[in-house]
Amino acid sequence: MTGSLAARDLSVRYETLHGSVQALRHVDIEAHPGEVIGIVGESGCGKSTLVTALANLLPANARVEGSIVYHGVDLVNLDAHRRRLLRGDEIALVSQDPMTAFNPVLTIGDQLVDFQHHRKDLDRSQKKARIAAMLTRVGISDAEQRMKSYPHELSGGMRQRMAIAAALLTDPGLLIADEPTTALDVTMEAQIIHLLRELRREYNGIIIVVSHHLGVIAELCDRVYVMYAGEVVEGGEVDAIFHDAHHPYTRALLACDPARFPDRLERLPTIPGTLPNLTEPPAGCIYASRCERTLEPCRNVVPPCVKLSACHIARCHGVCG
Ligand code: ATP
Ligand code: MG
Repeated sequence: MTGSLAARDLSVRYETLHGSVQALRHVDIEAHPGEVIGIVGESGCGKSTLVTALANLLPANARVEGSIVYHGVDLVNLDAHRRRLLRGDEIALVSQDPMTAFNPVLTIGDQLVDFQHHRKDLDRSQKKARIAAMLTRVGISDAEQRMKSYPHELSGGMRQRMAIAAALLTDPGLLIADEPTTALDVTMEAQIIHLLRELRREYNGIIIVVSHHLGVIAELCDRVYVMYAGEVVEGGEVDAIFHDAHHPYTRALLACDPARFPDRLERLPTIPGTLPNLTEPPAGCIYASRCERTLEPCRNVVPPCVKLSACHIARCHGVCG
């Protein structure tokens, strides 16, 4: 089953002993079958919170407002039973730490059989054959041997491939990869990017890739959402974001990306200042304290989401009118 996804006015806060952390504020995103969507932004800007909310896997201290409609069903207001069913078969999250996908005391093979519990039409040997084919598909050549391994016996790159294979075995309509290459060395990173590029050619569902690495997003995605301190500040086609960015934060992020300036020897600029305190977000624009183009309303009035073209949006007073 494949369907479109739309999060509307999505806010998430975490209740903690030190107060309420506003991890997401009024986020709007959408994705359609066949699209690869990128989510990019600095550490702590809410990327994992957003995709964990989409996958219905937020921790118990999270409070969600707004809607997430997938395939016509509002996931935020779904009862627990239907939520579990949908999550199992439809939405797969390859989390930032692929180890969390697996139980450390069971072999990979046994777990990959369990990941296909929804395939009542297959017996155990058919499921094993499907696993072998999937492991070959993600570039694991000695599939039979690997199925006998325990998770800790795998290298980082192998674990990432296994986690992607495990996700695909559930036949998801929505596949989310949270920082799929961050923990890997450069060679492994290139291999996983290659794998995801191949997947995007043959996969009919939606793929969402989270990264703080702009190069990964540029290589893989059709559209990208740029996040800052819990908000989507700009979104659009990859070309528009990389070559015609409007939001000062997106521009600053692009200016700081070392991958874009491989020959540059002097120090790259960094964005002055720090993320605002998410327990007391500012009244106006979330980026105002670090912005180099602050206007009169920026400190007091939340900027509207301005539509710059069919799918290019920016949340900035500077692009209004
Ligand atoms: P990174 O790039 O480092 O993975 P991120 O963009 O994925 O960061 P999140 O992990 O979504 O960011 O965190 C957003 C904010 O929410 C941060 O301030 C973080 O400290 C806070 N946060 C995340 N999980 C929890 C939690 N379970 N309880 C309380 N606060 C949390
Ligand atoms: Mg994260």
